[in-house]
Amino acid sequence: TQLLKYPNTTNESFSNMAACIFCRIIKGEIPCFKLFESEKTLAFLDIGPLSKGHALVIPKYHGAKLTDIPDDHLSEILPVAKKLVNATGAENYNILQNNGRAAHQEVDHVHFHMIPKPNEQEGLGVGWPSK
Ligand code: C5P
Repeated sequence: TQLLKYPNTTNESFSNMAACIFCRIIKGEIPCFKLFESEKTLAFLDIGPLSKGHALVIPKYHGAKLTDIPDDHLSEILPVAKKLVNATGAENYNILQNNGRAAHQEVDHVHFHMIPKPNEQEGLGVGWPSK
C-alpha cells in the first residue's frame, strides 16, 4: 500500500537503550507508580503530572519514535489508555504522543500521555494542554 512507502525515521535510538530512563523503569531500576503491566506494555503515573491522574503508556520495546516500534508492540497501547481513562472517570482527556524535539518529545522512548482534564478547564488546542 501507499503507507508502506514511508521510510522509518531513525534507528539511532537503539544505541541509547542502556541509558534510557523508561527502559530502566521497565527493568525496575528506577521506581514508578505502576498502573498496568503486561508482557509488552507498561503504564505508570507521570512524575510531573499536568493534571491529577496524568499517566504514560509505553511499549516495553525500546524505540524513540512511533515509527521505530513494530506493530505488535503497539496493539495494546490504546486499549490500556482507555482503561486508564475509565479508571479516572474523566469525561475530558487528552491522549498525546510526541515524536522529536520540535514536537516536544523529551524522553526518547515512545510514550502515550493520558491526561485527564477537570471539567472546568478549557481552551485545549493542538499540542500541550496547559496546567
Ligand atoms: O512527551 P515528552 O517526552 O515531552 O514527555 C516526557 C514525560 O515523561 C514528561 O511528562 C515527564 O514528566 C515524564 N517523565 C516521567 N518519569 C521520568 C522522566 C520523565 O514520568 N523519570
